[in-house]
Amino acid sequence: MTADSSKPAAPKNADYKATVFLPETPFPMRGDLPRREPLLLERWAAMGLWQQQRVQSKGREKFVLHDGPPYANGNLHIGHALNKVLKDVVSRSQQMLGKDSIYVPGWDCHGLPIEWKIEEKYRAAKQNKDDVPIDQFRRECRTFAEHWIEIQKAEFKRLGVEGDWDNPYTTMAYPAEAQIVREIGKFLMNGSLYRGAKPVMWSVVEKTALAEAEIEYHDHTSQTIYARFRVTKPALPALADAAVVIWTTTPWTMPGNRAIAYGDDIDYVVVRVDAVAEGSLAQPGERLVLGADLADAVAAASGITAHTVLSRHKGAALVGTVTAHPLAGQGYDFAVPMLSAGFVTTDQGTGFVHIAPGHGEDDFELGRAHRIEVPQTVADDGTYYDHVPLFAGRRVYTPGGKTGDANATVTAAIRDAGGLLASGSLLHSYPHSWRSRAPLIFRTTPQWFISMESDGLRKTALAAIDATRFVPAQGRNRLRSMIESRPDWCISRQRAWGVPIAVFVDRRTGQPLRDQAVVDRIATAVEAEGADVWFTAEPARFLGNGYDPAQFEQVMDIVDVWFDSGSTHAFVLEQRPDLKWPASLYLEGSDQHRGWFHSSLLEACGTRGRAPYDAILTHGFVLDEQGRKMSKSLGNVVSPQDVVSQSGADILRLWIVASDYAEDLRIGPEILKYQADVYRRLRNTLRYLLGALQGFTAEEAIPAAEMPELERWVLHRLTELDVLVRRAVEDFDFHGLFTAVHAFCSVELSAFYFDVRKDALYCDRPDDPRRRAARTVMDRVFHCLVTWLAPVLCFTAEEAWLTRYGDGPSTSVHLELFPALPAEWADPALAERWQALRELRRVVTGAIELDRGAKKIGSSLQASVTVYAPPRYAAALNAIDLAELCIVSEAQLVVGPVPEGAFGLAEVPEVGVVTGLADGEKCLRCWRVLPEVSARDAAVPPPAHPHLCDRCTDAVEALPAAAE
Ligand SMILES: [Zn+2]
Repeated sequence: MTADSSKPAAPKNADYKATVFLPETPFPMRGDLPRREPLLLERWAAMGLWQQQRVQSKGREKFVLHDGPPYANGNLHIGHALNKVLKDVVSRSQQMLGKDSIYVPGWDCHGLPIEWKIEEKYRAAKQNKDDVPIDQFRRECRTFAEHWIEIQKAEFKRLGVEGDWDNPYTTMAYPAEAQIVREIGKFLMNGSLYRGAKPVMWSVVEKTALAEAEIEYHDHTSQTIYARFRVTKPALPALADAAVVIWTTTPWTMPGNRAIAYGDDIDYVVVRVDAVAEGSLAQPGERLVLGADLADAVAAASGITAHTVLSRHKGAALVGTVTAHPLAGQGYDFAVPMLSAGFVTTDQGTGFVHIAPGHGEDDFELGRAHRIEVPQTVADDGTYYDHVPLFAGRRVYTPGGKTGDANATVTAAIRDAGGLLASGSLLHSYPHSWRSRAPLIFRTTPQWFISMESDGLRKTALAAIDATRFVPAQGRNRLRSMIESRPDWCISRQRAWGVPIAVFVDRRTGQPLRDQAVVDRIATAVEAEGADVWFTAEPARFLGNGYDPAQFEQVMDIVDVWFDSGSTHAFVLEQRPDLKWPASLYLEGSDQHRGWFHSSLLEACGTRGRAPYDAILTHGFVLDEQGRKMSKSLGNVVSPQDVVSQSGADILRLWIVASDYAEDLRIGPEILKYQADVYRRLRNTLRYLLGALQGFTAEEAIPAAEMPELERWVLHRLTELDVLVRRAVEDFDFHGLFTAVHAFCSVELSAFYFDVRKDALYCDRPDDPRRRAARTVMDRVFHCLVTWLAPVLCFTAEEAWLTRYGDGPSTSVHLELFPALPAEWADPALAERWQALRELRRVVTGAIELDRGAKKIGSSLQASVTVYAPPRYAAALNAIDLAELCIVSEAQLVVGPVPEGAFGLAEVPEVGVVTGLADGEKCLRCWRVLPEVSARDAAVPPPAHPHLCDRCTDAVEALPAAAE
């Protein structure tokens, strides 16, 4: 039978439709996934599928994908869906590979976003957050997180994500909080935890230090100034009476200036100003020291129309030079030394860098190296402290994040003091808070740090990176370069909703109290009562009898949430007996090199000497169909909830594996429509198999050795795919897995094997070895396909499985493993010959399509073909029935040159096909056109079943009478 839809005009006495074995299955063509998927979820819950899997896989090698906790503060977006489904595909496929794959979902609960929400509520009610008792405030944060955990849990489950949903972990569970306290205690006890004054990225709006991961870079227009620093102690005679010029984009940091940096190898010049434009702040005759490459640009920016280079010097020659602050005489009467620094460049500015040790990482380090005090000039609300001369109370940024009056006031003061050479503005990329979107400042605050060096943490972490597997491989260098260059880890936050840095500081020495018994008492209390206890109980309860509470300051900072999530390995992997430490895999978006992968690495290396994971897998981000970021304003947001309710979770899951997750993924209506088509084809393949296998039992099966070559070729392909599938699972290459399985379904099964075997399947007698072989192979194909697809299409695979095997209490494809295929199925020599046969077939099919298009024939079974080909094709053909292979009624192969006018294909150059009409009459059952049909009809007496071929006569006669 072919795709031809025209029906044979059967005579009244010869309707054989009822004798043909058409596929039959209750498995519907339409997925109707939004309705059916929830029923399967109910079934899995009712049968205790997760528990059955655990019992079944007890004792197997464990595979633990440790869940990077999403933040519990809103509905899931498409990025969550991508991440969780990918985790689910990994976890399910490892389980089916034969491991005990245990996935425990978790949530990140503490931190600013939730605190912010609760604060907003108070603000809306015109209440001050600071008037609310801290335990009440924290309780509201906890309730908020609990609310969203339940919502997200339901949304994740609906996506088909399987895990221990009854026992997830949260960072706010009391035992988790207690373990986080213990982990901080480890850094305290080994000496890595210290309190330092250090510039941190600070948000004036949120009044807190921000972690690297909480910072976004946006364009920002900054005011810029060029300022003169009069040389007071020249190291070279040429510098006498000259002024060193600096350029800054943060004039407000000038009160914090304590030095000027230069580069040893940079060329500098002393220039004399000869002429200036009107309005210029430069003075004819004055001498300025500038980077040689930048002198012209500075002249242009400051209205200097003519200047003379008086002398030229390497930066190294400037050593020992001292200058005066532009505001000297007004409270800024300290010496400003010139210091050599490696970070000075001549990209822009003047070739000199103004150093304010309290307002920059480089500045701080350089100041520390030269033992320069770190002035504290800006308070947490962004105003200058009262002790700052001239500028007390002026604001860098307003509480709303807008530019304050500090820059203008400082610039005016420097101008009035004669120190301003020029001012301007610059649009540049500037750090902003990811939450409030307000620009940040570097500000010196007392903070708690974990040292990267004191206990060798950097070295340990770098060695751990070398020992970790990265998928894709470039993740290694990314994480490595971050760890190589990162400063000490600032873990303190001046907030309320988090785990406290439960440390006491000795007021006499300023040193933290390092006493394991105190750490243990705190952890025990937190385990029983939650971290609130730190804020509500008397310090004496933790200090015990040995210490006088009056002598100790109780630290009220909370720990960075990245420390919370960086400790999940300790309170999940290590403490649950069903898991293992380290995890087999951490899997997150590629931004987590600076987030969770990073903090987990540092936490575990600092406390346990190695990474908490054996491997790291990263995925890209989701963009719209045009490759743009999704945003409400663009109206291009695709929500997983909408996809699931309109198309089904399996469509979303299919989209994920059909994309290359190592890159950014695109989604939108067109892409989803395309995936729905792909899904329909896969579903139809399963449906066809289910129909073809109707009533198939083990007794009907025949051994591979007794099968026709075509069936043995399919079995060979299964062994090749089996190798590919297992390797893809090991490599987490689900895109490769899906592409191969999908191509197998559409190209090799639907368009070839099923097509060729339709005739045998529909028309051979049930006990015919050819039909039995086909059904035996289809049974194996079904088993392989459904299990291979099960980690991805978890709903549809189950639906197909239950259709085939019934819905017993322990029947589920998710209790199956990838089938182990007999090694003897592999037959590369046969596969090579079939490669040639499929080439022959492709040319024949092309020729017949042409004839059908020209209406020479209606069905391919009306055709007779003569194929011209070189000897190797004849060798490949051997005893194979070419007509059967090509779905024609008559075919012959002629070894020899292709005659003029024969049909050919460029990709199969040596083969030609000449078509004609087959001799004989059409069998009304199988539609083949054969001479034997007319011969039978002409016999005397006439046949009981007229207009049939020999095979069909035999099949019809073998049927029970009722079927006729
Ligand atoms: Zn027939």
